[in-house]
Amino acid sequence: MTQQTVQQVVVVGGGTAGWLTAANLAKRFNSTQPGSIQVTIVESPDIPTIGVGEGTWPTMRKTLANLGISETEFLVKCNASLKQATKFVNWRETPAAGDSNHYYHLFTSVYDASDFNLAPYWQRGDLGSSTYAQSVSVQGEVCERKLAPKAITHKEYEGAQNYAYHLDAGLFADLLKQHAVEVLGVKHIAANVSQVNLDKDEYIASVTTDRSGVIEGDFFIDCTGFKCLLLGDALGVKFKKVDNALLTDHAVVMQVPYQDEQQEIASCTISTAQEAGWIWDIGLSNRRGTGYVYSSKFTSHEQAEQTLRDYVGPESEGLMTRVIPMNIGYREKFWHKNCLAVGLSAAFIEPLEASAIFLMEAASNMLCDLFPRDRQAMAVVEKKFNQSFQFRWNKTIDFIKMHYVLSQRTEPFWLANQHQETIPETLTELLERWRYHPVSDYDFDNVYEPFPMESYQYVLYGMGFKQDLSFNAGRYSKSAQAIQNFNNVQHIAQQVESKLPSNRDLLNKVNQYGFQKL
Ligand SMILES: Cc1cc2nc3c(=O)[nH]c(=O)nc-3n(C[C@H](O)[C@H](O)[C@H](O)COP(=O)(O)OP(=O)(O)OC[C@H]3O[C@@H](n4cnc5c(N)ncnc54)[C@H](O)[C@@H]3O)c2cc1C
Repeated sequence: MTQQTVQQVVVVGGGTAGWLTAANLAKRFNSTQPGSIQVTIVESPDIPTIGVGEGTWPTMRKTLANLGISETEFLVKCNASLKQATKFVNWRETPAAGDSNHYYHLFTSVYDASDFNLAPYWQRGDLGSSTYAQSVSVQGEVCERKLAPKAITHKEYEGAQNYAYHLDAGLFADLLKQHAVEVLGVKHIAANVSQVNLDKDEYIASVTTDRSGVIEGDFFIDCTGFKCLLLGDALGVKFKKVDNALLTDHAVVMQVPYQDEQQEIASCTISTAQEAGWIWDIGLSNRRGTGYVYSSKFTSHEQAEQTLRDYVGPESEGLMTRVIPMNIGYREKFWHKNCLAVGLSAAFIEPLEASAIFLMEAASNMLCDLFPRDRQAMAVVEKKFNQSFQFRWNKTIDFIKMHYVLSQRTEPFWLANQHQETIPETLTELLERWRYHPVSDYDFDNVYEPFPMESYQYVLYGMGFKQDLSFNAGRYSKSAQAIQNFNNVQHIAQQVESKLPSNRDLLNKVNQYGFQKL
């Protein structure tokens, strides 16, 4: 086996995954400097990216700041807006006609639950009739009022509340491309990869393109989306379906223009449960992105489109829809020999908690941190990476499945989701433990848990999960402190809400003045 050092990295595919990974690598390894690791990206000029109007996690702020992209430029160029939560509507139970139920999965909790866990006191009724989210955070009310998480006077990437973004993934890839090529030194080749060439050790030696000849490299990153040309087709790494646990298999999507330029913009993703799945509704600065994620076993494509149109209402008349088949699962390995898959080529889990872009950020960070110097080093990093990402994807599946398992909805799709054989054993164990114990640090002993303890709490308690903590009541004797913390949260709520502009007003000001640079 040849032991040459890794000098040339070739990324194939130019969607969010390709450009984010290429930009991260070039930034980390100073690719503008002679002698440094060089990054080339080969992007098809013919095959479109998947972008539907996506939600990110708050980690995106750090990612953009590290790349040296200004938040103002990002918001303006990607038609982006600020996201503070997901509002789950009608997930708890099928509502009676004219009725509805909802809860929030928020990004901000005023207190760290590991320091002082309010949940047991809230469950006992010590904190009055507030919902769990209201007892630990002000952000639900901020979202109800469509307020932004920050004011124009905040610096870039700083905020009064924790926040992420809604963005147009096509425009985001364009911005990353411009920055990666013009500032970070990534080499861009517009061509279709027609063949992947292996060497005698069955490592990838080069890719053949239709208009730029053969491109050689030491390390290859497969960002070809659902095609997975390198890791899947060329290296034969199999795809492991998880459609036994996550039952949705299609999305029908629709872009909805605002009625006028001053229409309010929601500052959270709205996820509304339907008969055979759920509808997302995200507000970008120039339009809403909506889509119905459904199981074709429980509804027809025609009915799914109609359900989406009914949700959007009369505004949907004349608007185009697009159906996207979804193959739910992940590769048996994400890294094999000198190839790593990032993005849809690595895995796709339905978009309920908008985890795909977050996991791309995590993958490209881990690649940069553990970057292999040569082929011998690759084997060791490969093992570590695969273990880590198998854990992260399985945890993501458990967390998403938990939303379905806890629902009291009674349509066949929802009942099928609650069949024991569809529930991963790891999730069953967690839920069993939580019947008699609050969620605690004991449940989160891996620092790379994708979803923190607070996320589980928002969903569990928001969905109405019942715990019996009575046998250990002596452990929860600090009622006075719990009430004090709760009162503080309510006090902060009043202060915060009076200082924040609406999401729409903030975006208008960003367009006009921009934020102060960090
Ligand atoms: C319905 C739906 C909703 C989603 N919502 C969210 C969300 O809210 N949050 C989130 O984080 N994620 C979400 N995702 C996932 C998200 O869309 C993707 O993860 C991401 O935007 C695009 O991923 P990608 O770059 O891996 O793939 P793609 O966008 O598919 O890009 C693939 C790239 O490979 C190139 N390519 C393909 N073949 C070749 C070839 N032969 N030669 C050269 N280049 C080639 C293409 O031209 C393209 O540039 C959603 C996905 C779907 C389907």
